[in-house]
Amino acid sequence: MGILWDINVERPDFPQLTTNLEADLVVVGLGGSGLTALLHASQRGLNVIGIDADRIAAGAAGRNGGLLLAGIADFHHNVRKDFGVDRAKALYQHTLDEMDRIEATTPDAVSRIGALRIADDSEELVDIYSHRDALIADGFPVENYDAEQGIGILIPTDGTFHPAKRAVQLAKFSQTAGAQIFTHSPAIKIESGLVTTDQGSIKAKHILVAVDGNLGKVLPEIADQIQPTRLQMISTAPELKLNMKYAVYTRQGWDYWQQLPDGRIAIGGGRDLALKQEATDIAEPTQIMRDYLERKLEVIGVTAAVEHHWAAIVSYTNSGLPIVKQIQPGVWAVGAYCGTGNVVGALLSRAVVDHCIDGCSQVVSDFAS
Ligand SMILES: Cc1cc2nc3c(=O)[nH]c(=O)nc-3n(C[C@H](O)[C@H](O)[C@H](O)COP(=O)(O)OP(=O)(O)OC[C@H]3O[C@@H](n4cnc5c(N)ncnc54)[C@H](O)[C@@H]3O)c2cc1C
Repeated sequence: MGILWDINVERPDFPQLTTNLEADLVVVGLGGSGLTALLHASQRGLNVIGIDADRIAAGAAGRNGGLLLAGIADFHHNVRKDFGVDRAKALYQHTLDEMDRIEATTPDAVSRIGALRIADDSEELVDIYSHRDALIADGFPVENYDAEQGIGILIPTDGTFHPAKRAVQLAKFSQTAGAQIFTHSPAIKIESGLVTTDQGSIKAKHILVAVDGNLGKVLPEIADQIQPTRLQMISTAPELKLNMKYAVYTRQGWDYWQQLPDGRIAIGGGRDLALKQEATDIAEPTQIMRDYLERKLEVIGVTAAVEHHWAAIVSYTNSGLPIVKQIQPGVWAVGAYCGTGNVVGALLSRAVVDHCIDGCSQVVSDFAS
């Protein structure tokens, strides 16, 4: 049924890799994470080449909910408990800084008006207030919210973006800054200093693998650290009776939605209803998830017809922390953002570029588990 984000977004064509090339850095995987690295590396003067197995943003980066949320996947009060206050603060601040950069780089694809965490029941409201209190204690912006979209908190620094528009813009800016892009060129072998595709190869001192949902397949040496997981969404025709200003997440983040400027509603979630079935690397939407999401739309008051239903694969870790590590000399892996990689993926990919150039990165040190 297609993907909402493809409406009115023209994807540029890029060549396939059919020769042997050399570069300072190869980026494998051109979703939001890889494209951020590509642009940053080219702006920092590296000779950089990006390759994708498909088109740019073919995976989760072009198929997600479009929410830009600060922090890692778990809520800030839980992160404080799991990893300590100082580290939780550092991680949260790094993501806020990255959101500023995301907004500054592609302002017309981003809206930073805030997002709501809304309570599904009174028990969740208690947890939301613990979340709020932890943010306040650490000096991060948060407000109570009790209005037409429900009861909970407004995090004014959060927001939304258009995933495909941003990806296309990042690719164009990267090319202008000197990066080369090849699509339909899957990496079939990655070793120190060399990436091989089926029709070519690239020698490079630095290699960054940014393929989130495909990480375990592309780098089998870390497959046992991550679980590929399917997430699904549906979207509707313009819903003109409703005017939902803010993007929302609720039920501990299991469900999330936003209304686009044209009135369309994009909603995802319900994975907790079918955890076993969704622990898969097959990006096929299913009827059980569609039924759940349609029921959820009814509860919100949406009557517009469903237009699109899609799925994509992400990776999860047991710790809740994403992966950012050098797994062979010069070969870096980033991914496993546990379902919220729009900000963290960009942040970590950029940080790896800095590490390659400067020999260190505070972001990498703070995130590396
Ligand atoms: C339905 C859904 C909703 C989501 N909602 C949100 C949200 O609202 N907010 C949020 O922060 N996160 C959300 N996420 C998670 C987020 O989309 C991902 O974590 C993030 O987009 C990952 O981006 P990436 O660039 O790291 O990887 P991906 O988007 O997975 O990109 C990987 C790219 O690598 C390419 N590739 C794969 N294998 C190879 C290979 N062998 N060689 C070369 N290229 C290869 C793929 O073709 C793809 O283009 C959602 C995910 C899904 C699926």
